[in-house]
Amino acid sequence: MKDEHRLLIALQDLDIMIKEVKDKATSKELEDLGFKLTGLSVLQEARTKLASAVPKTLLNRYEKLAEHYTVAILPVSGSRCLGCFVKLPTSFFSSASRVELQTCENCGRLLYIP
Ligand SMILES: [Zn+2]
Repeated sequence: MKDEHRLLIALQDLDIMIKEVKDKATSKELEDLGFKLTGLSVLQEARTKLASAVPKTLLNRYEKLAEHYTVAILPVSGSRCLGCFVKLPTSFFSSASRVELQTCENCGRLLYIP
């Protein structure tokens, strides 16, 4: 897997965490613990840093998908897309496909072979 893909996956992990912190129930909980704002700003700062390291075209693709899906980039498992569970064609598993990110033709999510 390419470094830029690893970065993108890390970025998505951060986005999911940020979403959770922003979630009302979680925010209330964190507020009670006294570190809601600092926690969120640290996450957002890390997100900005990480986003600047991801190639722009890849970042744009991800962000468009992230508007629709919580998980926009995910691994292939058992020759299925873990987003929509459609079975993927064998061309997905050629040697070139193991390096590049693939797009699920059914749901459009970005897929990688772990
Ligand atoms: Zn899919």
